[in-house]
Amino acid sequence: MKTVFSGIQPSGELHVGNYIGAIDNWVKMQEQYRCIYCVVDYHAITQDYTVKDMSPRVRDMALDILALGVDPEKAILFVQSAVPEHTELAWIFNAVTGHGDLERMTQFKDKAEHQPENINAGLFSYPVLQAADILLYKAELVPVGADQVQHLELARRIARSFNHRWGKVFPECEPKLTETPKVLGLDGKQKMSKSLGNHIPLTAIEEKPLRKLLGKMVTDEKRVTREDPGNPDDCNVYSFHKMFSTEDDRAWVWQGCTTAGIGCVDCKGRLAQRMLERFAPYRERRAELLAHPGRVDEILRAGADKARAIAQRTMAEVRGKLGLWR
Ligand code: SF4
Repeated sequence: MKTVFSGIQPSGELHVGNYIGAIDNWVKMQEQYRCIYCVVDYHAITQDYTVKDMSPRVRDMALDILALGVDPEKAILFVQSAVPEHTELAWIFNAVTGHGDLERMTQFKDKAEHQPENINAGLFSYPVLQAADILLYKAELVPVGADQVQHLELARRIARSFNHRWGKVFPECEPKLTETPKVLGLDGKQKMSKSLGNHIPLTAIEEKPLRKLLGKMVTDEKRVTREDPGNPDDCNVYSFHKMFSTEDDRAWVWQGCTTAGIGCVDCKGRLAQRMLERFAPYRERRAELLAHPGRVDEILRAGADKARAIAQRTMAEVRGKLGLWR
């Protein structure tokens, strides 16, 4: 069985974009692969954050991941900083990573442009830690979106350089390209993001708050009045129907919208209904976890124990290859 590794930054409670872009896929993959999922808090400290918020952010995120269906009996879920071998391996990988390779990373260039006040070395060598995250578990498959392919290519190069210099330890991981739609936020223009405030938090998927949020969702701007026909292909609400509704619903929207047979309120009402149905099991599991304080921490600790056992085996092999004193 192939090993899959995937990480997510602890941004706190998840939103619909995180679910479609990552966690939905995690839940599916745990049925087919040996999955190792990690909340990457060491990556998160490369950006400004409030210290007292870090632990709650990690815990809230893990709670949502579990509530969405990641099963600790089927997959390992843990927090990166609980397994310090990640940073140890990253340091070793720094010795086989070209400075020029890191300079070419488009994500670094983007971040450097958008947060010029805090361009730290951690941000620069972020892909090296990412390579360590993956290779510590000798993962063969890494689910990535198109924007992460360059980092994975670098991880492959690092594995090759290590194996060439010190002897074979690491496999060359393959990208498992996730065909997930880009989820736009309520503004219908930019990618859904908590920092942009255009997101639908999963915790808001309750009857009243959800309908209120969907009420704000921008529709086809050319459909000015109820009497104007609209074009679903120009409407973010329809993109959401594609993710959450049935084929019959989509046909109903298409027919109704293009002939002005339905209004946007009707269309959003149907969407709300489908989203509430999709997330009903999530709400139930979340309530169960909240009723047992400490359960999430227990799962994360057990996950870290399992991850650490694998990581320590890899590091023993790595130290042996490097000829380090023990
Ligand atoms: Fe968008 Fe639906 Fe309104 Fe058409 S009816 S413009 S698809 S919200």
